[in-house]
Amino acid sequence: VNVDHKLGINKFHVDEENAHIVLKEDNLDMKEYQKLVIACPAGLYKIDEKGNPQFDYAGCLECGTCRVLCGKTIIEKWELPQGTLGIEFRFG
Ligand code: SF4
Repeated sequence: VNVDHKLGINKFHVDEENAHIVLKEDNLDMKEYQKLVIACPAGLYKIDEKGNPQFDYAGCLECGTCRVLCGKTIIEKWELPQGTLGIEFRFG
């Protein structure tokens, strides 16, 4: 059983209208971004073939790692999803 399988057990209630994590839009510091490519346990910080950042907040584990690492540099907003939205941890 690998981590991806374990993560697949969790259920997400994605708030489609309200991103709980928003990155800065202008002049994104790719050096900072690169840290999150490595550090995010859910692998949500990606870089596409053209070298552009691809971030999707759906699937976030709400661990706070990105906020701690880059909350002052490239992250514009970091909040917990509202109400019942966000991750529902399941342990199996
Ligand atoms: Fe990834 Fe954790 Fe940041 Fe969510 S809070 S995007 S899981 S590093």
